[in-house]
Amino acid sequence: AFDANAVPQAPEDPLFGLMAAFRRDPDPKKVDLGIGAYRDDNAKPWILPVVKLAEDRLRNDPDLNHEYLPIAGLPEFTAASQKLVLGGDSPAIKEKRVTSLQTISGTGAVHLGALFLAKFYKTKTERLAYFSAPTWANHFQIFANVGLAYKTYPYFDKQTKGLDFDGTFAAIRDAPEGSIIVLHACAHNPTGVDPTQEQWKKIAALIREKKHFPFFDTAYQGFASGDLATDGWAIRYFIEQGFELCIAQSYAKNFGLYGERAGCFHFVTSPASDAEVTIKRVASQLAILQRSEISNPPAYGARIASTVLNDPELFKEWEANLKTMSGRIKEMRTELRKKLEDMGTPGTWNHITEQIGMFSFTGLSEKQVLKIREDSHVYMTNNGRISMAGLNTHNVDYFAKAVDKVIR
Ligand code: PLP
Repeated sequence: AFDANAVPQAPEDPLFGLMAAFRRDPDPKKVDLGIGAYRDDNAKPWILPVVKLAEDRLRNDPDLNHEYLPIAGLPEFTAASQKLVLGGDSPAIKEKRVTSLQTISGTGAVHLGALFLAKFYKTKTERLAYFSAPTWANHFQIFANVGLAYKTYPYFDKQTKGLDFDGTFAAIRDAPEGSIIVLHACAHNPTGVDPTQEQWKKIAALIREKKHFPFFDTAYQGFASGDLATDGWAIRYFIEQGFELCIAQSYAKNFGLYGERAGCFHFVTSPASDAEVTIKRVASQLAILQRSEISNPPAYGARIASTVLNDPELFKEWEANLKTMSGRIKEMRTELRKKLEDMGTPGTWNHITEQIGMFSFTGLSEKQVLKIREDSHVYMTNNGRISMAGLNTHNVDYFAKAVDKVIR
């Protein structure tokens, strides 16, 4: 018989544990830099104005109901998602070599992709996935759950607090031919460090040479630079180069739809005369996997995103909202760096403004992270990652002083 008593205690999810510790802390000066969600200048969640507009429309739409969506999700949502991530004039869309399924946000898209590869991706030698070191921690457990073995490639350079390009390149070069290379499309989580376009080109050429399979995770398009095309550049470049690849796309951050779980999984085959037939077969298998995992995806978040993506006026408003979020974060980067440099805080601080997106890898050690938590009630993950969105005009000075104190 099953002895439930023998189930071992699992460790608490580190990020959610940190959130709980923050909530318990009674100190009024406490600062939450752990959570990966946007906050406004008053440290409050921000419903995007464009989302409110879309919700108003949906509320007044007499044709909406609570029926199941199709297995692959809302068709106008998945079609708009393809255009968003690949670009409106993408050759892959024109040539009908893309198939897309609506998923449970980015996590569900990573999962569906991993599950599909676990089942159908065959390699001549050992089959391995490669993640950057570090990466979004959930990558490890999602791939492990579907039985895909993985290794990591060096990514973050502790000295420069930038990209260890040589390390990345060497590891991808030495990986067994046909490895799955997981890439963050932009605003790398947790480091905030992205390759330059020149570096992306070299990585792409190497992946081609080694016949690896690129697996893009894009959770911050538009949220990082404020510009959808800039943040989508790497994926679009790979598509231009004719790669077969897949993409896990999240709308959590760029629409502020965290809890609504809107996302998309895209599979793109390379250009070939039979590409259209191939992609139909891929789509048929993905549909079966989706059916067995979630039956069909949730409607509400996808309806909001779809309403915006398919309406030129709302789309413009969304782009403005993206500029508001990314702009505030960039201001906080500038402020924080300036304050640290003005105080002469030991070390270099250029990485704070050079890194991009929600997160910054400060370079603080675990010991310093724990001390700053105890002394100043500032909560960040033990690896020294801060969520830039947790900083605002009311606490950035306090935080800079806390960093200064813990370093001296
Ligand atoms: N991938 C990366 C790199 C992320 O940073 C995140 C969110 O933090 C996700 C995927 C997925 O998030 P969600 O499932 O909320 O869309």
